[in-house]
Amino acid sequence: MTFSIPFDNSYATLPDRFYTRTAPTPVANPGLITVNEALARDLDIDPQALASPEGLQVLAGNAVPQGADPLAQVYAGQQFGNWVPQLGDGRAILLGEVLDNKGKRRDLQLKGAGLTPYSRGGDGRAWLGPVLREYIVSEAMHALGIPTTRALAAVTTGETVVRETLHPGAILTRVASSHIRVGTFQYFAARADTEALQALTGQVIARHYPEAEHALDMLDSVIAAQARLVAQWMGVGFIHGVMNTDNTHIAGETIDYGPCAFMDGYHPDTVFSSIDRNGRYAYGRQPQIAVWNLAQLATALLPLIDDDQDRAVQKATMSVHRFPDLYRAAWQDVFRAKLGLQSAVPGDADLIEAMLAWMAAEKADFTNTFRDLCADREPRVATCHEDWQDLWQRRRARDFAAPDRQQALMRLSNPAVIPRNHRVEKVIHAALSDDCAPFFRLISVLRNPFDLASADADFALPPRPQEVVHQTFCGT
Ligand code: AMP
Ligand code: MG
Repeated sequence: MTFSIPFDNSYATLPDRFYTRTAPTPVANPGLITVNEALARDLDIDPQALASPEGLQVLAGNAVPQGADPLAQVYAGQQFGNWVPQLGDGRAILLGEVLDNKGKRRDLQLKGAGLTPYSRGGDGRAWLGPVLREYIVSEAMHALGIPTTRALAAVTTGETVVRETLHPGAILTRVASSHIRVGTFQYFAARADTEALQALTGQVIARHYPEAEHALDMLDSVIAAQARLVAQWMGVGFIHGVMNTDNTHIAGETIDYGPCAFMDGYHPDTVFSSIDRNGRYAYGRQPQIAVWNLAQLATALLPLIDDDQDRAVQKATMSVHRFPDLYRAAWQDVFRAKLGLQSAVPGDADLIEAMLAWMAAEKADFTNTFRDLCADREPRVATCHEDWQDLWQRRRARDFAAPDRQQALMRLSNPAVIPRNHRVEKVIHAALSDDCAPFFRLISVLRNPFDLASADADFALPPRPQEVVHQTFCGT
């Protein structure tokens, strides 16, 4: 079996100032952790070839396959609200693009592949913990039906990475519909490079929004995609943790699994990231932050929206102001389904808010409280508030869906299992002692989050007090 990837690169056709051609830096002694077979097949890549010694050399950055055109993308962004005029792929290298078996264009990127011109003070590397974390959580998001970058493979490098202490190095192969961010637009806008903004808009429309006719249409589509995405995060208790504009994906995929986490006990002020000291990116603030990020995109696009600056501002403002309604509608859709409701009735938002209010007061487990709503055949692990139960039962009786349809909808909308922090930490801990079995078990359970086998029931349990994870780290 010879190893080949049918590359079809488009980002590399953009002008030079969009990137720097950079090859991955070879590593000492590559070792395969895993190849995502189902995803490889979706990409028309032979999973066996990818896992072969030849494939491993490519996944580790020791060999550049034919047709690849490795490059590091440049971008800018606001990090925690502070403008950084130049960021970029500091440790990620885009190998190239492939068309998947549905004809969709996908980027293949090696994360942790060595220094690039954008590495700033960093070493261009990643270590095993964050690589496994991203693999687990991004694949779990996909199984939950939430748009996300994916993980095609994880390998070890045989080298040591220095952080607070020494760690084994690793590389993740990330797959995404593109790696274009709000910050990519900001980079060129800050340089008043309208030509580049136009070229980038052309590429984004071609790749993500073919129905869009101009920059304003594209902006509207990005706003709609982000509204849906954040509503979906809220529906599973997901906290992104670093919603900077350089981590805001132009097609509305979840990207950058640094300090992200799923909540156990519900409270809207929940924050995990060790660097988010003011709670800027707390669970309940995510919709506000999304609209702030989208306003930055709108600002960057002004020169393309109208030659008259006032008119451009007016149009862009109108678009951004649509976000709250779009988000609210998407959020209600997500939570109505979680309550088994198929029709929309005035007062639904109050019913949902009332539930979240008592959950917050009781710090009820987010995942299990919702899952228990459909627990006619499963043992209940959380308790439900009685007055609220009453309201909900009355509302259900008014829904046009019959009770069995409501049950079915709830089963598909309330996962039984999510990648709980304490589980992820245990998996990483074991892998650091060369035991990858817990990692494989966890990714296998998370592949079917709505359908937990009884043998795997302990994966639905919240952490015991001594297991609770209070903080997550960027892990760079
Ligand atoms: P992040 O917080 O992961 O979004 O990263 C912010 C910026 O820092 C991005 O431009 C990254 O590419 C860069 N970066 C993060 N970690 C490293 C590293 N170990 N070496 C070089 N650049 C890095
Ligand atoms: Mg990032």
